[in-house]
Amino acid sequence: MVVVGSLTMAPSLPATALSASDAAATTLALPLPTTTEKSASMVGAQNVVLADFAPQTIARDGYSSEAAPPPPPPVVEAAAAAPAAPAAGGGVQWPFPQAVRISDGFGPRSAPCSGCSTFHDGLDMNAGDGASIGSIADGVVVTSTDDGGGYGAYVEIESVVGGQTVTALYAHMQLGSRGVSVGEHVTAGQFVGLVGSTGQATGPHLHLELFHTDGVRFDPYSWLTEHAG
Ligand SMILES: [Zn+2]
Repeated sequence: MVVVGSLTMAPSLPATALSASDAAATTLALPLPTTTEKSASMVGAQNVVLADFAPQTIARDGYSSEAAPPPPPPVVEAAAAAPAAPAAGGGVQWPFPQAVRISDGFGPRSAPCSGCSTFHDGLDMNAGDGASIGSIADGVVVTSTDDGGGYGAYVEIESVVGGQTVTALYAHMQLGSRGVSVGEHVTAGQFVGLVGSTGQATGPHLHLELFHTDGVRFDPYSWLTEHAG
């Protein structure tokens, strides 16, 4: 009776995941303390989704929704069921296979430079200068340029995940490192380019933005945590 009724787990992804952004480079370690053994890798990020199911499952039994989840067996079952739900999209993955540091999350922030926005509309991942960026999903390249202004060298790839169009924008890549061209079909994990610091960047990192057809940016960390796997 472990019915995971809904995948709308957004409300439970705490802002702390994002605000732990400052300089203190947090790893992709997630805010849920009970998943410590999983926090050291990207796999951990996937597991957070599972952990997130826990409150919902428990809530059905009348617990306060805050029941800090010491994930019991039900979570495991939910885990097994999880892949079926987002099947429509499938194949979503993080841009790096290894755990990376998040240096700045999505949302309000104090501007890191004069002229920088006080609202960060992407996710900054410090995988290291020259690290290979992989497409987060199958899709079609809609932008690929070395001359993207503040974005520097960047690529946009449009995908359909769960029946919804999602565009991923990969910014600040090294000049000349882009591995894809406009119109090209790519698969999840396919090489997109190398982490760099082109455009308005204070150092080498991947600035990743996600948006639907309305162009409104949303939190890549939450979305990837929900869909990657
Ligand atoms: Zn950024």
